[in-house]
Amino acid sequence: MPAITVHDKEFIPYITSSQIEEQVKKIAEQINKDYAGKRPLFIAILNGAFMFASDLFKNITIDAEISFIKLASYKGIKSTGKVITAIGLDVDLHQRDVIIVEDIVDTGKTLFHFLPQLEHQQPASLKIASLLHKPDALLHPLKIDYLGFTIPNKFVIGYGLDYDGLGRNIKEIYQLV
Ligand code: 5GP
Repeated sequence: MPAITVHDKEFIPYITSSQIEEQVKKIAEQINKDYAGKRPLFIAILNGAFMFASDLFKNITIDAEISFIKLASYKGIKSTGKVITAIGLDVDLHQRDVIIVEDIVDTGKTLFHFLPQLEHQQPASLKIASLLHKPDALLHPLKIDYLGFTIPNKFVIGYGLDYDGLGRNIKEIYQLV
């Protein structure tokens, strides 16, 4: 696959769609096992996690629910550090088994600031599923319970992830050159 240009930057292929598909299936299988007999509530974080959440959820075979929330903490290729809730949560989390679905954990700031809001509602359990994780960028301690890929600290796009609005529709994951 050739390199691509998005806005002013060049990106090279990094993770293929079949590698993503395989990992997403593995995560779903693990969740199906871990939550057998329960009814987990997935909370997908928009916009970036929409594609991962959709593919993951399609592979969930136990009873499960999904809800979407929107937090904005990223502008361009550098985190602003601000976390803004734009779409609120419409499900009561009390005594629910909650699985947060993220596209990528970078500094960990987003989830670090958001998790206490969820914990406040006293869910029965609270776990994190993230497609990607950049451990070298992590500033806040976070346990990712279900992880697709550990990646280096380089900006990536594709499979739901954007660079200034573009690139979300790419089936593969591309890395900034
Ligand atoms: P954190 O709060 O962990 O630093 O960042 C989490 C959010 O930043 C992600 O949900 C994602 O929206 C954005 N982000 C972090 N790294 C990248 C990246 O490499 N590419 C893109 N497109 N977004 C990123």
